[in-house]
Amino acid sequence: MALHTQLQERSNNTCELCGNQGNLSAYAVPPKTDDRIEDQVVLCSTCFTQIQAADYSDVHHWRCLEGSIWSEVPAVKVLSYKLLSNLSNEEWARDAMEAAALDESFLTWANAEKELEAGKVIHKDSYGVVLASGDTVVLTQNLNVKGTNYIAPKGTIVRKIKLVADNAEQVEGKINGDTIVILTKFIRKSV
Ligand SMILES: [Zn+2]
Repeated sequence: MALHTQLQERSNNTCELCGNQGNLSAYAVPPKTDDRIEDQVVLCSTCFTQIQAADYSDVHHWRCLEGSIWSEVPAVKVLSYKLLSNLSNEEWARDAMEAAALDESFLTWANAEKELEAGKVIHKDSYGVVLASGDTVVLTQNLNVKGTNYIAPKGTIVRKIKLVADNAEQVEGKINGDTIVILTKFIRKSV
């Protein structure tokens, strides 16, 4: 796909990290995924492939970050910083990160992906087994089905549960025809 004209101009048709030409593509700096020019960095295929593979073993190539971290384009700065943090065994990389002294807002962007990873909601049943949407579970005790007089007995099988996205202690499942929220501590994954 051809580069957006604005990106072509900004990058002067070179990789904004290492300056290579040819095979350029736009890369949104995670956790951004959008098409906004200001969230994107123009990358050559060498940089792109290594970033996609999270392979930073070509230390010699990544020395380019010592220069790119001084870019006036925030996305380039942030990406350079993120990549340098993967190379922090190297003294020069630590020096470059320190010297560039990124603003708070840049740091927030640079660290956002890691924080999202760390904050990932993981659902586990009463035995600590990880649950996924679509799993079949068994009630480990009698449950009052809210809003009805029905009590679902211990041992009731609930098929095709759905994880509640922002709450690791809740899943949704159908009991007696009603979709209800069930606490993970009252279920056991069925094998
Ligand atoms: Zn490059």
